Amino acid sequence: MLILNHHPPLNINPHTLLHIDNLHKSFILHQQRGVKLPVLQGTSLTLNPGECVALSGPSGSGKSTFMRCIYGNYRADSGSVWVKHQKNWVDLCQLPPHELIAVRQKTIGYVSQFLRVIPRVPALEVAAELLLDLGEEPKVALAKVKDLFHRLQLPERLWHLSPTTFSGGEKQRVNIARALAVNFPILLLDEPTSALDATNRQVVMELLEGRKSMGCALIGIFHDQEVRAQLCNRELTFNE
Ligand code: ADP
Ligand code: MG
Repeated sequence: MLILNHHPPLNINPHTLLHIDNLHKSFILHQQRGVKLPVLQGTSLTLNPGECVALSGPSGSGKSTFMRCIYGNYRADSGSVWVKHQKNWVDLCQLPPHELIAVRQKTIGYVSQFLRVIPRVPALEVAAELLLDLGEEPKVALAKVKDLFHRLQLPERLWHLSPTTFSGGEKQRVNIARALAVNFPILLLDEPTSALDATNRQVVMELLEGRKSMGCALIGIFHDQEVRAQLCNRELTFNE
């Protein structure tokens, strides 16, 4: 297989998990006379184990776009997203699709703002899916998810139902359990606690603190100033 330019910058710290360099991203609005909307104009970020960076800035300033570029949902126009994947450095901006899938399976977890629900698939299966895809024994995967559901106080009567009809906060907890069931070295969290009450927000904070102390690196968009103060080591601020 021919891989070009798969060399991270020489000055990268050996412990670093993620190194984002000079990312640019514009949207072309084809429906609106091809207007070009610049969103990211040279964003950089380096992330080490156990760190949590908050993306802050007004609505529409590019926080979610940045996160989607890191997960490979959006392809940046230029710049690089170096990820330490299974001891190798890969640049997500140059990665062929099948390798991107492997990075998402093993290295980067993503708690999107909204859970994608499939009718008829029960909450337990939705939350166990990523772990099962990794080849985990179904019994072990389900036990892990049940433990997370307990901790997140998701009522047991809901576990065998499809989340289609769940409330916002219930869906959000299924989404969090789904990502936390796997021990990803890097976690991206897009407003993971926005629909939760104070008690459940605190449980999520404790779970994320636990991941940090295990060496997981987090990037999060958190509306709640209290959450940012408690969990995050620093902020990356986006401007309009
Ligand atoms: P934030 O998460 O900070 O609220 P976003 O990253 O969602 O902001 O959006 C940044 C800007 O990019 C906004 O002006 C938004 O309208 C625009 N944008 C985001 N995604 C798209 C897209 N898929 N197509 C066109 N414009 C987009
Ligand atoms: Mg957003």
